[in-house]
Amino acid sequence: MKNIKDYDLENLKEELKQMGEKPFRAEQIFKWLYDEKVETFDDMTNLSLELREKLKSNYTICNFNILKKQESKDGTIKYLLDVLDGNAIETVLMRYHHGNSICVSSQIGCKMGCKFCASTGIKFIRNLTSGEIVEQILRVEQDTKERISNVVFMGIGEPLDNYENVVNAVHIINNPKGLNIGARHISISTSGLVPKIYQLAEENIQCTLSISLHATTNEKRNQMMPINNTYPIEELLQACKDYIAKTNRRISFEYALAKDNNDNLEDAKQLSKLLKGMLCHVNLIPINKIENGKYDKSSNENIMKFRDYLNEHGIVATIRRELGTDIDAACGQLRRKNLKGDIE
Ligand code: SF4
Repeated sequence: MKNIKDYDLENLKEELKQMGEKPFRAEQIFKWLYDEKVETFDDMTNLSLELREKLKSNYTICNFNILKKQESKDGTIKYLLDVLDGNAIETVLMRYHHGNSICVSSQIGCKMGCKFCASTGIKFIRNLTSGEIVEQILRVEQDTKERISNVVFMGIGEPLDNYENVVNAVHIINNPKGLNIGARHISISTSGLVPKIYQLAEENIQCTLSISLHATTNEKRNQMMPINNTYPIEELLQACKDYIAKTNRRISFEYALAKDNNDNLEDAKQLSKLLKGMLCHVNLIPINKIENGKYDKSSNENIMKFRDYLNEHGIVATIRRELGTDIDAACGQLRRKNLKGDIE
């Protein structure tokens, strides 16, 4: 059966029309799902009994179980969620002074194989559906009884490799009758699937695009991120320029600093050349060391020098605050420790 949370409002209206129901019923169902956060059709008490029965026989409401929760001293919570088919995903709640932010997974496993990522050892199993992406936010809001105001697609998976479901989930998250989170508070991250960046530029959604860049030469980026062999830096940056021209939105470039690998001033110089004149922001990430990982964290001194060089040369750069360092810090680690069977 289909998960009712997989439908955005327009598609749900269409489904109901085909069942002989008035489209406004879709808005009522959205209110129950995303405002009231009910878990059964029986709880939707302003729908007729007949409609509730019809819904029960045609759809499910996916409600994940929380398998494990780890809370950091800084308030960050990592969830391991049971997606009801024997698999599990990771979702992280981060608390900032400007509000709660959630990092959602978009796939079970990942095909991209970035060398610095804890998810690399988790084999790709399947895409998450739109409803399963949205359910991560609902589950965390329900558990904490706190509102989430920012969503970042930076958990397990390459969001643009699950393009349709991610874009559809953004519509549900953004819809005022859905989770009502402004598009500017939604960030989609990619390792650099160039054709999908061009496609996203045509979608007319005002979300932030975040590019995992991490290196300034193809030689180095090929080693860190195999996707660069298919879409090298020049093609990636051309797609970014097109995205900015079409959307007038600032792109965020993620740059994880690894000791003696990509953290010296030559790299900063090269980065400022590559990004010169672009409407962008650089987010410097002190890399998380993973079990058996090849890369070590850069020193604080190097990270600050790197940031200062960029800022002095016209590129806005900030260092990402490290959250959850006392719990399993890198994405994929929580799941990796719990589901050994999934490790290749
Ligand atoms: S960093 Fe992202 S895209 Fe790369 S392997 Fe990890 S989850 Fe996949």
